[in-house]
Amino acid sequence: MKSLWNDIEAQAFESDPLQLRVYTSRLLGKEPGLVLHGGGNTSVKDAVKNIFGDIEEILFVKGSGHDLATIQADGFAPVRLKALTRLATLERLSDTQMARLQRSAMTDPEAPDPSIEAMLHANIPYKYVDHTHADAVVTITNSRRGQGLLQEIYQDRVLIVPYIKPGFKLAQEIIKMTHDTKWEKIEGMILLHHGVFTFADDARTSYERMIKLVSEAEDYLQKQGAQEHVAGAQAQEDLLTLSSIRRYVSRAKGSAMIARLDHSPEACGFANLDNVKSIAVRGPVTSDHLIRTKPFPVIFGKDVQQDITDYTRAYQAYFDKNTDGRRTCLDPAPRWGVWPQHGTIALGRSVRETIIVSDIVRHTICAIQHGEALGGWKFLSEKQMFDMEYWELQQAKLPPNDIFPELQGKIALVTGAGSGIGLACATMLHEQGAVVVGLDINPEISKMFNQEDLLGITCDVTDNRAVKAAVEDTVRRFGGLDILIPNAGIFTATQKIEDLEEEIWNRSMEINLSSNQRLLKTCIPYLRQGIDAAVVFISSKNVPAPGPGAAAYSVAKAGQTQLARIAALELGCDGIRVNVVHPNAVYDTALWTPEVLESRACHYGCTVEEYKTNNCLKTEVTSKDVAALVCAMVGPAFAKTTGAQIPIDGGNERVI
Ligand code: NAD
Repeated sequence: MKSLWNDIEAQAFESDPLQLRVYTSRLLGKEPGLVLHGGGNTSVKDAVKNIFGDIEEILFVKGSGHDLATIQADGFAPVRLKALTRLATLERLSDTQMARLQRSAMTDPEAPDPSIEAMLHANIPYKYVDHTHADAVVTITNSRRGQGLLQEIYQDRVLIVPYIKPGFKLAQEIIKMTHDTKWEKIEGMILLHHGVFTFADDARTSYERMIKLVSEAEDYLQKQGAQEHVAGAQAQEDLLTLSSIRRYVSRAKGSAMIARLDHSPEACGFANLDNVKSIAVRGPVTSDHLIRTKPFPVIFGKDVQQDITDYTRAYQAYFDKNTDGRRTCLDPAPRWGVWPQHGTIALGRSVRETIIVSDIVRHTICAIQHGEALGGWKFLSEKQMFDMEYWELQQAKLPPNDIFPELQGKIALVTGAGSGIGLACATMLHEQGAVVVGLDINPEISKMFNQEDLLGITCDVTDNRAVKAAVEDTVRRFGGLDILIPNAGIFTATQKIEDLEEEIWNRSMEINLSSNQRLLKTCIPYLRQGIDAAVVFISSKNVPAPGPGAAAYSVAKAGQTQLARIAALELGCDGIRVNVVHPNAVYDTALWTPEVLESRACHYGCTVEEYKTNNCLKTEVTSKDVAALVCAMVGPAFAKTTGAQIPIDGGNERVI
C-alpha cells in the first residue's frame, strides 16, 4: 500500500493539529483497502483555551456517522480528555450511559456524537491515533491460524488484542493489557476480527505506521499466494429473475428495496465456487459491517422465492437463539445475496445503501478467499455477531425507518422527462423517495439527471431498440421497475381533417400512441415483478373534450387512453394498476410559448391571465400540479383504483 502523504499539501496545516488530523484522516479514507463508507476513526489530542481562559485537554475524535474520506474539522467531536480517561476507570458502565456521558463531556453541544471508540482513543498516550479496518490485516486475523500468523509477521512490534465488542469493555481491557507496555516499543495494535490502531505524537508518523503495518500484511498475503486464490467467471444475465428476487426480498422487508447486481467476473467467480454455501455464511470482514450485511447472505438456487423464505426463517432462528429477550427482531430480509452464474446482489432501501453494501461485499468475497487460502475463513461466533448487530450504538448509525418518504425504494421510469410535465413528475417522484430513470430525446437529459438515483438516458421513444435497452438498463442497475409514466408527447400542427397531412398524422400516431404501446409491452414483464406496480399515462383533456383542428393529436391521445383502459383490464390480475390523467392546458411547458399564449388569448378576446384561468376554479394548472397528482396515483391512496381517467384542468364545463 502506497503512502499518500504529500509534504507540500501537509505544510498548509502544519500549525493546526486538527486540520492536520483532517488531512491524514482523508488520506486514510481515500484508500478502500483501509476503510469503507464511514468505517474506521481517528483522533487528535490538543490543548484548547476555553471561554474563561483556562486550558483544557480536548480529544477531537471522529463523530459517529462521518466518513474519513470526506471529513471536515466539524466532523470531529471535541470531548474533554480527562472525563474520558476517568470514565474508563469506572467498574461498570452501560453502553447507553457511556454514550450519554461522552456526549455530556463535549465542549460543543452542536458537534456530532463522539465515536463509540472515543474512550479507547483517549487512553492511548499519543497525540494522534489512527484506526482502520484494513482488509489485509483483518483477513489474516479472520483465518484459522490468524493470531499465530500475525505474530510471525509483526513479532512484538504490535499488540494483539483478542476480540472484544467495541466501547467501554474494550477500552478497559486495553488499559489492563497495556499496563506494563512500553508504548514506545510498539508501532500499533491489532484487534482480532476488528481492525488496526496506530499512534504517534505527529500525524505523519501515525499515518505512515498504518501504511507500513498494512503493507506488511499485504506482502505476507502476496507471498503466501493468497491473492491468486480469487476466482473469476463470466456472468449470465437474467433480468426477470433479478426483478423477482427484488420483489421477494421487498416482501420479506415489508417495504420496497433496491437490488444492485454485481456481475463482475470476481463476483460471479465467487458465486460459482463449489463451497460457496459454506464459506459465504461464516461472517463478514469486520464486526463493523454487520449492521450493513447481517451475519450471512442468502444463497440462491433454482427457486429464489423458496430461498428467501428459507433465509427469513434462518434469520428468525438466529435471532431467537441469541436474543436475551429484551430485543426486537429486525426485519428478516437479507442484505446481500450470492447468485451462482450471475454474481452477487446488494440490497437496500436506497441506492446509497446498496452501493455501501456492494462495496463491502466486493471486499468481503475477496477477503474470504484469501482467508481460505491461509487455512480457512473464521469469523466471530454467532453470539458475538448477534451482539454487534443488535448493539443499539451500532444500529444508531443507520437511518431510522420512519424518516423515509412514501415512495422510498420504488423504481420509476418517466418518458419525456427533460421538460414540462415529465420533468416535474421525475423530480417529484425522486423527492418522494423513488429512484427515477428519465428518458428524453434531448441529450441534455443525461446532464440534467446524473445522480446515483436519478438517471437520464437519451432515448427516442419511437426507437424500440433504444427503449428496450433503456428499460433493461434500469432493471440491471436497480433491480426492477414499479412505476411507469408514459409522458413523452408532441402537439402536432393544427390542421382540419380535410387538410391534414399524412406525415403529421403519422408522426402524432407514432409518438403519442404507438410508442406507448411498445413501451408498455417492453415493461409489462418487469412490472409484473414490481412492488405495487402502477402506470400513469399522461393523456389530454382533448380526449373527453376534443377541439376542431386537433384530430392528429386528439385521436392519438384517445387511442392512448383506450390502450390504458385495456391494459387495466389485462393487468389487473397481476396487481398492476393502469390509470390516466387528462391535463388541460399546462402553460409552464415547452408546448406553450408566450407568443402562442398571447395569440390564443387574443383569439378568445381575453387577457393571458384570464385565458390561463378559464375554468370552474379560476385557477392555473402547472406541471407541478400534474406531478403531484401523478405521485398520488402511484402511491397508496390510489392502491385500489385502476382504469380511471382523472382530469386535472381546474374544472372544465365540457368535461363535467
Ligand atoms: P414539453 O414539450 O415541455 O415536454 C415534452 C418532452 O418530451 C420534451 O422534453 C421532449 O424533448 C420530449 N420528447 C418529445 N418527443 C420525444 C421522443 N420521440 N422521445 C423522447 N422524448 C421526446 O411538453 P409537456 O407539456 O410537458 O408534454 C408532456 C405530455 O403532456 C405530452 O404527452 C402532452 O401531450 C401532454 N399534455 C400537455 C399539455 C400542456 O398543455 N402542456 C396538456 C395536456 C397534455
